[in-house]
Formats: sequence, structure tokens, C-alpha cells
Amino acid sequence: MSKPTPDVYEQGKGMDAHNQAMREIRSRKEASYDPHEPTRVWLDEDNTPGGVKQSLTIILNTGGCRWARAGGCTMCGYVAESVDGGSVSHEALMDQIDICLEHEQEHGDEPADLIKIYTSGSFLDEREVGAESRRAIAETFGDRERIVLESLPDFVSREKIGDFTQYGIDTDIAIGLETATDRVRHDCVNKYFDFADFEDACEEAAVADAEAGDDVEAGIKAYLLMKPPFLTESEAVADMISSIERCADVEGCHTVSMNPCNVQRYTMVDELYFNDGYRPPWLWSVAHVLEETADVDAIVVSDPVGHGSDRGPHNCTECDDLVQKAIKDFDLRQDPSVFEQVSCECELTWETVMERERSFNQPLTR
Ligand code: SF4
Ligand SMILES: [Zn+2]
Repeated sequence: MSKPTPDVYEQGKGMDAHNQAMREIRSRKEASYDPHEPTRVWLDEDNTPGGVKQSLTIILNTGGCRWARAGGCTMCGYVAESVDGGSVSHEALMDQIDICLEHEQEHGDEPADLIKIYTSGSFLDEREVGAESRRAIAETFGDRERIVLESLPDFVSREKIGDFTQYGIDTDIAIGLETATDRVRHDCVNKYFDFADFEDACEEAAVADAEAGDDVEAGIKAYLLMKPPFLTESEAVADMISSIERCADVEGCHTVSMNPCNVQRYTMVDELYFNDGYRPPWLWSVAHVLEETADVDAIVVSDPVGHGSDRGPHNCTECDDLVQKAIKDFDLRQDPSVFEQVSCECELTWETVMERERSFNQPLTR
């Protein structure tokens, strides 16, 4: 008879196992990128506490997320777009910013009021973006109205936020919290921090806000993941509603962005999906959560990526565009009555899934 070894107890439990699996999956991707070019840049519109603004969105190409290199989150394929293993120099980062400014001049009528900078990691992590680059970028965009910077909560401090607010620019830190429930964040998403760390970051932002004076704001935008792997549709919906409510109750957190999970390549979600173990959320679920949380004390938005496709949030394909449009309307107007005007036969299927799907029989439908 075989005997269990200590290895058996080490493996197959919690984060070690998830990280090991994720490292293996990610290592299948081989690609490298030019550190002098941003990963992506585009112009669009976004809802902020100051109203709907023209926005320049930048995905900076930095060394990539440290956590992703350790293994990383079960749904995230972003590391695949980062510079291999290394960090990016100040000069290269500033070249990336120049390209973004050129893009804005070419495609926009005037400088955008809102700047959003993501890094596929943490903009405030000094191993990704050093203090020199951070301050130079703050100066570059200091004359705009508002800036959003992506960061994990550990790297948020009042001083770093102050680098931006000193120019009079409203500053939001976008934190990929994913869920307010620690158990779900750890075991389904494989993200290492706790809700308490998020609360600490919100407190830093609240202090930065107070220090910045009356005319300048600093705050937190929480990003939540609708339907991480291993949750049924109804569990995901219940977890999302309570997460939005808990985030809205934290001082310093003024916006919640609910991102329906999509199936990205080289992720654990992709493996599950490929083996019939995962279905992205229904758009009806997204609409339902927005309706249920319409009265919380925060802006709640959602921007379903890849809607209507099998790998993205979807309904029956007939009604996907319609429901997506209602969600986008809700984002801008925060009025839940937009959902009264959309209906489809597939709502009955969704209701059945909500009622009958269990962990052992999911996904109940495709
Ligand atoms: S979701 Fe964020 S923290 Fe997780 S691996 Fe991706 S970039 Fe890193
Ligand atoms: Zn439908």
C-alpha cells in the first residue's frame, strides 16, 4: 500500500498548488515586446465622480506583475503581454508616454480630461515604475482633470498619491480587489491579499484626499471579478452583490467596476473552460447585480469585455448586444430602469441556471 509523503500534503493545497499550475500554464506562452512601446493606448469615454469624461487609456509596458511571475491569478493572462522577466528603464517608460501623447494628438480633438494608466501589474510598485518615472508622469499629466492609476493595495501610500494631487489633478487608484470575500479571493482567484489590505489602501487615499485640500480629490476605484472559476452562477451573483455593498461602505472608495470574467489564453480559467468546467457569466447576471446594487453609495459600472462570444460574458447570442447596450447605458446614467426595456426568451434558462446549478454539475449550460 502506498504511503502519503510530506510532498502530498504540501502540494494540492491552497496557493502553492494554484501557483504551480499557473506557472506551468503561463510558461507555454513565448513572446517578447519592445519596452519603448506601450502595450496599448486608446481614446474613449468614462463615468467619473465629476461626470462623463473623454479619456485617454494607456497600458504601459512595465516588467509585468510580480505576482503573475510567482504563478498569479487564475483568470489573468496579462503577464503574457509584459516585457520578459525584466524591468523597464526610465527612458523607455517616457518613450512609451510620448507615443501615447502622439496618439492622443492624432486621434483626439483636444487633450483628454481623464487619463487612465494600467500596467498589467502595479503602477505604484517602484520595481515596475520607479519614483523618477512616476513623478515625471505626474508632471506630464498634471494639467488634466483626473488620473486613474492601477495598483495592488500593498503599494498604495498617501505620499505616492500626493505626487499627483500636488498638481491639482484628481487622483484615483484602481485596485483589482476582485471580491470582498477573502476565501473567494484566495481560493478561486488565487490573489494573495486580504480585504483588510484594501481597507488600508482606502484609508491612505482618504488621508491623501484630506491633505490635498478642498479642490482636489483622491480616492479608490475597486475592480471586482464577476464569476471567478469554481463558483456557480448564483454563488457568483450573491458574492458580487455583497462585495459591491461592502466596498461602497468603505470610506475612500467611490467607484466599483464589476468586470465579468472572460476566458483569456494561458490561464487556469482557460484550462477549465477547455475541459467543460467553466462558463463565463450570463449578461443577465451582470444586469441583475447592477439592478440590485443601484442604491449603494458609490458609482457602480461594468464594461463586459468580449460580450456575446463563447469565451466572454454572454446570453443566448440573440439578445447579447441589446443587454450589453443597456449595461453601457446604466454605466453612464446609473438608472436601473434601463433594464426594464430588455427581455428575451433565454431569461428563463438563466433563471433555471440560477436555481439549479450546483458546484458538482456546473456549468449547467454553455
Ligand atoms: S490579475 Fe493583477 S495581480 Fe493577478 S496576476 Fe494579473 S496582473 Fe497580477
Ligand atoms: Zn437571449
